[in-house]
Amino acid sequence: MRLSRFFLPVLKDAPSDAQIVSHQLMLRAGMIRQEAAGIYAWLPLGFRVLKKIEQIVREEMDRAGAVELLMPTLQLADLWRESGRYDAYGPEMLRITDRNDRELLYGPTNEDMITEIFRAYVKSYKALPLNLYHIQWKFRDERRPRFGVMRGREFLMKDAYSFDIDEAAARKSYDRMFVAYLRTFKRMGLTAIPMRAETGPIGGDLSHEFIILADTGESAVFCDSRILDLPVPGEDVDYDADQKPVVDDWTRYYAATEDVHDAARFESETPAEFRREARGIEVGQTFYFGEKYSRPMKASVTGPDGKEHFIHGGSYGVGVSRLLGAVIEASHDAGGIIWPDAIAPFGAGVLSLRPGDAAVDAACNTAYEALVKAGKEPLFDDTDERPGGKFATADLIGLPWQIIVGPKGLAEGTVELKRRATGERESLSLESAIAKVA
Ligand code: ATP
Ligand code: MG
Ligand code: MG
Ligand code: MG
Repeated sequence: MRLSRFFLPVLKDAPSDAQIVSHQLMLRAGMIRQEAAGIYAWLPLGFRVLKKIEQIVREEMDRAGAVELLMPTLQLADLWRESGRYDAYGPEMLRITDRNDRELLYGPTNEDMITEIFRAYVKSYKALPLNLYHIQWKFRDERRPRFGVMRGREFLMKDAYSFDIDEAAARKSYDRMFVAYLRTFKRMGLTAIPMRAETGPIGGDLSHEFIILADTGESAVFCDSRILDLPVPGEDVDYDADQKPVVDDWTRYYAATEDVHDAARFESETPAEFRREARGIEVGQTFYFGEKYSRPMKASVTGPDGKEHFIHGGSYGVGVSRLLGAVIEASHDAGGIIWPDAIAPFGAGVLSLRPGDAAVDAACNTAYEALVKAGKEPLFDDTDERPGGKFATADLIGLPWQIIVGPKGLAEGTVELKRRATGERESLSLESAIAKVA
């Protein structure tokens, strides 16, 4: 991408109503624009990162055996009456009436609808275990939308739903999602801590919130700091094998959100040196809720015993759009955003310090084309902006590698290579710079 052809409306100053650094940086970097309270347009830079995060979530769901589909944003109110939670859900639900006076709602979550789909087609235990997921916009009319995409009203969520013949099988499905979550957040450079949590309007009795520790987090959390050093399973994780040992490992230390925190237990289980009382951002949550939806909605399958069994369900959400805020909270400096390579909007930048100079143009084009070929998705700053402005923008939007090309260096046969994360700069030949980045 050439910056002169891109749409990157960076701002000098963050609007004063942005209270936390991730919100400020997303506005300054031209990633999002608020269209109404808690409702954002995703500008090209923000949209690129959103898609990368979405793709990592998708790959880890697929790896764990979940199957992607896409359900609509609008749902019939009657479906929620059938599951028994239409009235219980409260004012967070956006209720809509169509021209025929039919009651609809903008889905805040999809347990009811996926159960309806499941029961229409699946009749035998032989189709189980089954896990279906989608990545779709949700709407919750939050009382206090704030902190940008962190607490929006319209937000992008990945939600997966598992179906099993009994509780033992359902717990295996739960464990697979638990491990998939560890891997998903790790790939984004985040350490997410699974914490025992309240189940809220989703229901059920087994649940974990996946929490990123951050001072600006909205939840108070309590955990044993030894969790932070636990290993996350690698790409070769075998989901056909039982994942309980991993889950046991990750749940053997105390970790709980405020809602379920037990101070006496915390103190007895955790030596003082490891006790952490902190704030955290919830980036995902897993639920096992058994027959909560299958019973009222009559979703059952014939078991190996020839009898009908209500299926045992779980649901698993990831806040895809919230993750942008969470990553930035965890990874920034005074200059701007420091993206982990895996989700950076561009893999590298090529900064021309003198567009129009034949040697500089040629070197920039060589670097740009080589990086495109290498799949690095470079951003070529070919604009007339002065060098200081280019450096500031490259750091603000977090280009992980920056190849800086100016006439002085070129005369000596060198360019500069900057690593955003460390601030390190080195002079080297154009070829070496390209080789290092590609
Ligand atoms: P919160 O406690 O922050 O209100 P929640 O517990 O109500 O979230 P869930 O129903 O567990 O949310 O939804 C799954 C995930 O969706 C959450 O873990 C979070 O990452 C994300 N999410 C929920 N509400 C919002 C929101 N208003 N804006 C952005 N992401 C959200
Ligand atoms: Mg909520
Ligand atoms: Mg919550
Ligand atoms: Mg939750």
